[in-house]
Amino acid sequence: QQRENIRNIAIIAHVDHGKTTLVDQLLKQSGLFQQHEVVQDRMMDSNDLERERGITILAKNTAITYKDYLINIVDTPGHADFGGEVERIMKMVDGVLLVVDAFEGCMPQTKVVLRKALEHQLIPIVVINKIDRPNARAAEVIDEVIDLFIELEATDTQLEFPVVYASALMGTASATEDKQDENMLVLYDTIVEHIPYPTEQLDAPLQFLVTLLDYNEYVGRIAIGRVNRGIIRQGQSVAVMMRDGGIKSGRIEKLYGFQGLKRIEISEAGAGDLVAIAGIREINIGETIADPAHPEALPVFAIDEPTLQMTFLVNNSPFAGREGKWITSRKLRERLFKELETDVALRVEETESPDAFIVAGRGELHLTVLIENMRREGYELQVSKPEVIVKVIEGKKQEPYERLFVDIPEESLGAVMESLGSRKAEMINMINHGNGQVRLEFRIPARGLIGYRTAFLTLTRGYGILNHVFDSYGPFVGQTVGGRHEGVLVATEKGVSSFYGMMSVEDRGTMFLEPGTEIYEGMIVGEHNRDSDIVVNICKEKQLTNMRAANKDETVKLKTPIVFSLEQALEYLNNDEYCEITPESIRLRKKIL
Ligand code: GDP
Repeated sequence: QQRENIRNIAIIAHVDHGKTTLVDQLLKQSGLFQQHEVVQDRMMDSNDLERERGITILAKNTAITYKDYLINIVDTPGHADFGGEVERIMKMVDGVLLVVDAFEGCMPQTKVVLRKALEHQLIPIVVINKIDRPNARAAEVIDEVIDLFIELEATDTQLEFPVVYASALMGTASATEDKQDENMLVLYDTIVEHIPYPTEQLDAPLQFLVTLLDYNEYVGRIAIGRVNRGIIRQGQSVAVMMRDGGIKSGRIEKLYGFQGLKRIEISEAGAGDLVAIAGIREINIGETIADPAHPEALPVFAIDEPTLQMTFLVNNSPFAGREGKWITSRKLRERLFKELETDVALRVEETESPDAFIVAGRGELHLTVLIENMRREGYELQVSKPEVIVKVIEGKKQEPYERLFVDIPEESLGAVMESLGSRKAEMINMINHGNGQVRLEFRIPARGLIGYRTAFLTLTRGYGILNHVFDSYGPFVGQTVGGRHEGVLVATEKGVSSFYGMMSVEDRGTMFLEPGTEIYEGMIVGEHNRDSDIVVNICKEKQLTNMRAANKDETVKLKTPIVFSLEQALEYLNNDEYCEITPESIRLRKKIL
């Protein structure tokens, strides 16, 4: 492929704004699927699920052929970035497609990703999608985008972004708001015209930065990234420059390019190409694959350390097996170790018990997302409450501190400052953008962030964005700082054991109830830990049936921890039919709602 005909872009969108539908249309219209049958045999690696469902799952890497051009599209994580993935993806591409719903407009979650894109001097294209919606308000949404760009300190060049009005659903687009063309040609052309092509050196010693990892049981770990320099060939011997400065040797057993949503085997690729490599065992993110005659590493980037851990356990309760099909310790173990193949920010440790694993990650949300994914895949498990990972450094107990960034509406400033103060956060910086939005930066013990997201979202009415990166180890604060976990435990027909799976990905608050907590009919007050009590309101009648079955007495002592979501709890709290009204439940309801 001629370098001039390559375009590498990342796609950024708030969930549901139409990213998947858009890529789907771009693939369809590029005529790619006419070649589908031919391609099929050559597909070395394709996820069965993806193949079954056709193109409904957006692959991390999608490649679209349009005329003589190859357009690589890299998906970005929407709202949860745990291992610095967004930062790394930005180094792989030369531009971004920002997809915004013509009615909903800019949403907070895409801001983090967009900020990174603009910081990396990437060229943006704004796609106002769902223009077919009767309540579309494209002009206003564009104003919002401009405001956001200004707030994120976009350069003048970036502010001259082209706009494409599109309906991914209908497969149409246009450069003006009033009338849609019959197809999306204008979008392909805008990408080709506005996004620069790669200009790295081809006639130089090979350098390739391992940016993303994938895994496949046949070929093992797969390293994905951009060829930064030179040419890479299938079968070639390479030097692998490790993050600690060490060098190991390896061989490019398989080299893949991207075609549509699939990877296809290729014999060689050059600087500026996005490729996947298999056959180098233990290859890791941040390592450079280089020419053995010129073993030069690319700059090493930091990967944040895990700061929080939880124990994942086989469900040993009397209700085991009701929620999931994968319930054995062998299945649990396999699944956790598989996750390690692609998630650099996660650690898994075995324990003395074959039924328990310690899982460490980048915070509560990181682990919650993993649990939620596992639950959806049919795993049934129990988890302990999270705790920070304490280290002994120079004979002293130290615990992790995080650098916390929050973007909030000005009116919630006081409340957010106060809540963070009680969690021992120290303010480092504050920027008032003058448009009603404020950005604050803090240093905070990682412990103080446990359970904070829910409180934060409430304080900012859902408009706040919260992000944190590892800062350093610092003095041991011990105990839970600030932050009461408040909530209501609600039993369902399925009984208490099923609570573990009720967290939402949005992490609107997870609750943890420790073993030994007493549950009795009607009302329960359980100690969560020293400074946070949970008032638990168990719904009468049908919800308690299973618990009674488990224990003839009206009191049940929890044998294993329970996790549940605040959303679930609110739903029940709002429903008098299910809730026993006591002074305590009224007090709680007032507090939470
Ligand atoms: P993603 O979460 O960004 O990948 O969003 P999806 O592509 O899954 O789209 C979310 C929903 O919006 C789906 O129900 C789509 O059918 C719908 N959708 C996507 N694009 C359009 C569009 O252009 N117009 C309308 N009316 N709906 C759309």
